[in-house]
Order: sequence, then C-alpha cells, then structure tokens
Amino acid sequence: MIKKLLESILHRSSYLTNTLYSGEGYIFMLHRILPIEEKIKFDYNSSLAITPKGLEDFIRQFQENNFDIISLDDAFFRLKKPKKNKFICFTIDDGYKDNLTFGLPVFEKMNVPFTVYISSCFPENRAIYWWYFLETHIKRNESIDLSSIGINFKLNNLIDEQSKLDAFQKASQIIKPLSYEKHKEFALKICGLTQEELEGFNKQNNMTWDEIFELNKSSLVTIGAHTTDHVSLKNQSFQNSKNQIQESILLLENKLGEKMNHFAYPYGALTDAGKNEFNILKSLNIKSAVYNHPGSVFKQHLEFPYQLPRIGLTDETSISRLKKLFSGRLHFEFNGSNKILG
Ligand SMILES: [Zn+2]
Repeated sequence: MIKKLLESILHRSSYLTNTLYSGEGYIFMLHRILPIEEKIKFDYNSSLAITPKGLEDFIRQFQENNFDIISLDDAFFRLKKPKKNKFICFTIDDGYKDNLTFGLPVFEKMNVPFTVYISSCFPENRAIYWWYFLETHIKRNESIDLSSIGINFKLNNLIDEQSKLDAFQKASQIIKPLSYEKHKEFALKICGLTQEELEGFNKQNNMTWDEIFELNKSSLVTIGAHTTDHVSLKNQSFQNSKNQIQESILLLENKLGEKMNHFAYPYGALTDAGKNEFNILKSLNIKSAVYNHPGSVFKQHLEFPYQLPRIGLTDETSISRLKKLFSGRLHFEFNGSNKILG
C-alpha cells in the first residue's frame, strides 16, 4: 500500500525521482564498433554496433557535461566515497575484433577506460552467432520451422518487413535459452551453414588470443569474463552454469596471467541470470557482474555487486533516452522503487 502510494507520487514528481533514483552513475554496454558501411549490413541486429564517430561524439558530450568516465574498479571506490559528479563506465561484450581495430583508437584518443568481457568461444573460434544467422535466414525465406531440431516453433507467410521483424524477435526468444549444442544445430541444420563456414565467420570477426593480449596492454583496458559458450545461464543446469562461469574465468586468468574480477551475463536480461549465478560468482571471489537491463548504480550495489544494471549505447540512442537515464526516470520506469534488480 505504502509502496503503491510512493510510486504514484513518484510518477508525478521529477524532482523526487531525480533525488531518489538518479544514483551515483551508469554503465553503458557496447558489442561492436563498426564503420557505417559495415554497420548497415545488419538490420535486426543493428543495435549491436556503434560507429567510431558516434562513440566519440557520445564520450565528448558526457565529458562536456561533467560526467566522470571511470573504470569498473574505480566505480566501486566511488560508491564507497561518492562525489558530486556522476560516473559513467563503458563495457563491451563478447570479443569482436573491431573492439581492437576501431574501438581502442577512440577510447585512447578520448583517454577513457573500458572493460571488455570475453566469452571463451570467441578467441577459440567456436562462437555460434545464431543472432546473425537467424537474421539472414528470415530475410531469405518466407517461413521458419525449428521442428527438425526438436523445437515446436513454426511461422509462415513472412512476406513483408514487419512480419519478418516480428518473426526475428519471436524466434530469438525461443533460441536464446537453448544449450550451446542446440545453437550449433540451429546454425547447421536450420540455416544450412557448414562447420567450415562457422569457423570462417569466427576467424573473420573475433579477436585472437594475441589480439586480446594486445588490447590488454592498454592501461585503459580491463578484461572480464562472459562464459565459455555464450549461453543464457539461468536456462542451463546449475552445474553447467557453474562450469560456464568458472572455466571462462580460469582460462582468461591462465592466458592473461592476472585475476579476473568482473563478469557479464550473456544476453543479460533478468531471465538470463539469477540467485544461482550470484552465489557462483561470490564463491569465485568475483567483484562485480552486469545485466543488460536499464537502471542507475547506487551505493546499495556495494552489497549487491552481481546485480548491476547496464544500458546499450548505439548511434540510435536518443538524447531524450539519455536524459531519462540520467534523471533516474528510466530506472523508475523499469524497476519501480526497487534499487536492486532481480
Ligand atoms: Zn554477449
């Protein structure tokens, strides 16, 4: 009752939402940094990429508006000793080659730290980009049918843009929670790719281990972990989730010779990670983990470091959405009066 009353007052008062929910800072999520001629090759997956110029322009605007762009480690110091300025952290998921070729030069030019979460399947050339394969499959066909991989999902008459986009979104929700093996079956049996083609895409798009070492030489870079097989952890068995987290951390620690402190949940919706994952991360002495769910970072996250909110940043992100984020209103819209997600 009191919570309901509070929420109805907050809906009307931007002063109160700002005071209560703008928090100490914000974490942005990127995947790929691509020149415009590469970025426009994708439609349904266009939000995975930002252009180097778009990224540089956002960074400049944040700096001009007195945000302190800091590393994730510094964000935790900041939560202990808050400052007047809000902070911003940049994070990039997966391990795409363009992070090194197009991303690093922008971050170095602007002198901005960032974290890159590596899923081991990327440098090992066995990532299954089902999200890109699904886009191509739906664009080329007028139907999609997953029954040959044991999944009862079929859509017909995908003849116009809207029905194809809807089909992409619906099929993504079906494919995302599956196991790594099923993701691979989808690529081979439904999309008709060969094993060689799967590897070819990986070699073309992913950072090699040597490239990850090169990236990590920059004092601006922090490397974090992102599972071995890029699966939705909450939808796997407890043992698989534990292996996915633990083995990806151990492999990165062995390869890089340094402790991993930070983790990102693949896909990152609230349905992709939960209490089991928080406990596993805690037992492995990991400092933080990020979702892909909008919100502000609060002092309270010192106690709940595996439930950090994060918001995508692309060339299409509007100023009004950013204003909503920085005023606490976006946090309130997505999470009500709960400061901690999940
Ligand atoms: Zn990812």
